[in-house]
Amino acid sequence: MYCKHCANPLDPAAVVCVKCGAPRGQGANFCQNCAAPSVPGAVVCTTCGAALSQPVQGVQKSKMAAGLLGIFLGSLGVHNFYLGFTGKAVAQLLLTLIGGWLFGLGAIAASIWGLVEGIQILTGSIKADAKGVPLAD
Ligand SMILES: [Zn+2]
Ligand SMILES: [Zn+2]
Repeated sequence: MYCKHCANPLDPAAVVCVKCGAPRGQGANFCQNCAAPSVPGAVVCTTCGAALSQPVQGVQKSKMAAGLLGIFLGSLGVHNFYLGFTGKAVAQLLLTLIGGWLFGLGAIAASIWGLVEGIQILTGSIKADAKGVPLAD
């Protein structure tokens, strides 16, 4: 078993590569079976024939839903929770809840932030969720 990211031999019990830190089985540069360089997009290793597992594809989220959530509920970070950008979503939520109490401006700032992101989602400037899965039209 080799690291698919850097071809370093992996201990059978290792969860991450000690050399590059990539999680076991992650990466697309080398075959995990023989450490030969992988052809980009190949499903099997051209050297040893081992199956190269493809990156995990999650369920595609709706671009329209994410965009509308951003425009209407962006100040609560709902669109970012939906897309999996939890850190950004919490920041927007806190800006609205805490910033709103302190200044009344936090909520406005968060609304504009969400509105801009909603438009970016609808226009395709933001085209994937936090896992890199492209949004469905
Ligand atoms: Zn590695
Ligand atoms: Zn191979």
